[in-house]
Amino acid sequence: MAAFRIVSSQQRSMLASRTPCRYFVTKTKWAYSEETTCLPHLVVALICHRPVACSGTVLARYRYRIYPSPGQGHALARAFGCARVVFNDSLRLREMCHAAGEKITDTEVQRRVITLAKFTEERAWLAEVPSVALVQACNDARRAYRNWFDSLSGKRKGRRIGHPRFRSKRGRQSIRLTPLHGTRLYVAKVGDIRVRWSRELPSVPSSVTVIREPDGRYYASFVVERSAAPLPTCEREVGIDVGLDRLAVTSDGEIIANPRFRRAKERHLARAQRALCRKQKGSANRVKARHRVAVLHRKVREARLDHAHQVALRLVRDNQAVYAEDLAVSGLVRTRLAKSVHDAGWAQLLRLVEEKAVHYGRTFARIGRFEPTSQVCSACGVKDGPKPLSVREWTCAACGTAHDRDVNAARNILAAGRADRLNACGGDVRPGHALAVAGEAGTHRSAA
Ligand SMILES: [Zn+2]
Repeated sequence: MAAFRIVSSQQRSMLASRTPCRYFVTKTKWAYSEETTCLPHLVVALICHRPVACSGTVLARYRYRIYPSPGQGHALARAFGCARVVFNDSLRLREMCHAAGEKITDTEVQRRVITLAKFTEERAWLAEVPSVALVQACNDARRAYRNWFDSLSGKRKGRRIGHPRFRSKRGRQSIRLTPLHGTRLYVAKVGDIRVRWSRELPSVPSSVTVIREPDGRYYASFVVERSAAPLPTCEREVGIDVGLDRLAVTSDGEIIANPRFRRAKERHLARAQRALCRKQKGSANRVKARHRVAVLHRKVREARLDHAHQVALRLVRDNQAVYAEDLAVSGLVRTRLAKSVHDAGWAQLLRLVEEKAVHYGRTFARIGRFEPTSQVCSACGVKDGPKPLSVREWTCAACGTAHDRDVNAARNILAAGRADRLNACGGDVRPGHALAVAGEAGTHRSAA
């Protein structure tokens, strides 16, 4: 099997000049066999799986496991610590200035917490780590403070943002660094870190974050521009109703079970956490026990994420449009279902569906959370009034259709999503009549 590589003329010249630059080669998913040169199959593969047209680019994160040597691990630990100190110092400084009623510019903050601090005795060690990590930590603090202020003043939309928290020694540690070139991951004052390039980066990254997870693993997370790869259009559209008993139910009646990954590890977690709390503070055994808890949490997290990726990809690949209910997760997690709600990971699942829909040129839309999806009969549209959650199946009094509660809700979500979408696109559909232009027609149908 000879691997088949696609390179454009520009890329070919890059390769010809033997530039050791991994970002310019795209490895394709299929291989070309020399024994059975099966051209029709290749053509079919081209039609089915390759992008039909390219429209726009989106920013994406690509994460790779990295393996710093023990010495590099120490150097990274110092960098994490210094970035944390700079972040906390600049938050504290802004707070003090705000309390004293004086204005301070961003450059002045940076000058005081980095440049001047390096000359003081108690912050002299700031000079031992990559300065770009410190500047980025300072920028992060500025952004966090700004977001909080904008949220207070109403300039920033969406959920209320709390006061920025001080960074902690415990848990996930990270530093952000600026663009790098070539195939290496070079961190100033740390050196070249070994990276396991599990897949090609789609473009030259604009920034990289070096992360240490609580379980001791290191990762590099690159921000890259990725061009959309639209799939051929298809007819199917689907509404999904997410829940706890069943993770998702589609309007076609397909049921996606809720694997409850955390529930499955509950006993292991409880045992590990019990062991941890019995260990003496500051002891080596406590470190080991904490590591064991972190590993269990990672396993749960990774299993859940992998499952969500698979479900999301299937939904987006099989349907031209996916509609879901806009959820109020923050309200639900204050109930006694909290653990189960977190375990289901609805928000993560819907976020992945949305991202994949953008990437594959499909539509994803959320419908209003106050749409009475479980009260209305999806067959005749008669509103039957609210039903207790225990009612899983019911028969419509008006038309006699037997409904599964979740499938009926999913069908209603599909109908509501379609109606919203047609409203929003209405300006283009009938240009002869249209009084309203497409730009203005995104309002909800009940608002008219
Ligand atoms: Zn009915």
